[in-house]
Amino acid sequence: MVLNAEKKETKKTIYTPDLATITQVKELTPTEKQFTIELDDVHKRKEFSFEPGQFVELTVFGLGEAPFSIPSSPNNKENFELCVRKIGNVSNALHNMEPGAKVGIRGPYGKGYFPYEKMQGKNVVIVAGGIGMAPVRSLLKVILEDRSSYNDFTLIYGCIDPNNILYKQEIEELKKSNDIDIKLTVDNPDDQWDEHVGVCTNLIPDLDYSPEDTFIVVCGPPIMYKFVILELEDKSFKPENIFLSLERRMECGVGKCNHCHIGNKLVCVDGPVFSLWEIRNLKEAI
Ligand SMILES: Cc1cc2nc3c(=O)[nH]c(=O)nc-3n(C[C@H](O)[C@H](O)[C@H](O)COP(=O)(O)OP(=O)(O)OC[C@H]3O[C@@H](n4cnc5c(N)ncnc54)[C@H](O)[C@@H]3O)c2cc1C
Repeated sequence: MVLNAEKKETKKTIYTPDLATITQVKELTPTEKQFTIELDDVHKRKEFSFEPGQFVELTVFGLGEAPFSIPSSPNNKENFELCVRKIGNVSNALHNMEPGAKVGIRGPYGKGYFPYEKMQGKNVVIVAGGIGMAPVRSLLKVILEDRSSYNDFTLIYGCIDPNNILYKQEIEELKKSNDIDIKLTVDNPDDQWDEHVGVCTNLIPDLDYSPEDTFIVVCGPPIMYKFVILELEDKSFKPENIFLSLERRMECGVGKCNHCHIGNKLVCVDGPVFSLWEIRNLKEAI
């Protein structure tokens, strides 16, 4: 006799993650690691597609889930990367994992992404602070992979100190090309540092782009947004052309639990990327 419990198949819900394998782990800074992740199911791997700015929910089995943006190029169909800062339960457990380890993946999630199609033919400026580089790297890659479709391209990237710069080697390589103008700045320089010192806001007044033809993308710690926006508005950049990736404590990722609401918006489904025009009147947004 087959017991009922044995007959019963595990019922899949919207919260059931897909099994995936960590195929590579790379240390980016003393606190951040890059994980390359491959979905185990070949069909799901081929179907998995995302837009720059979207995120996944990652499960460390037996411990919990956390949302992470996808910093790799959507054009890579075999696997995707995550950049994870060691901060708490899930991220610490991930940092202890080696290639071959299994995790769960739900997503990609978020209807609000960086609208790269709209940016074609225009100038693009990315302003990133600290780990804010992770969500915008996907957009950076999309633009560089189709560079001739865009006009001028600038990255302003600020970190606490040179050791905290993410994707340092990649940035050094890019600096040698004519594809992008990169301005780096740190709060605490060391003896070798020969670039800007201070917050990334200081570099905005020197931007020499017409507000009509320029899209701005901002991602970084909450404190950065207020000051960056003031500078951008001072230069008359248009709120509908400024895109910000917002981060809120999130549980479900699919618009059910309401943990991540800002006014009438949910960061998980309406965002995480919003135009300044969409959120400028929402009190707790910035
Ligand atoms: C859309 C989205 C995209 C994200 N992308 C990335 C990413 O690419 N890389 C990355 O490293 N992190 C990212 N995060 C943040 C990440 O999801 C959290 O840091 C996550 O909670 C870590 O889980 P944990 O179990 O390690 O930490 P927990 O054990 O849950 O928390 C540890 C400590 O950190 C604090 N904390 C946790 N999350 C946050 C937060 N979001 N803001 C402020 N304090 C917090 C907690 O209050 C607690 O004190 C993203 C978050 C969102 C909402």
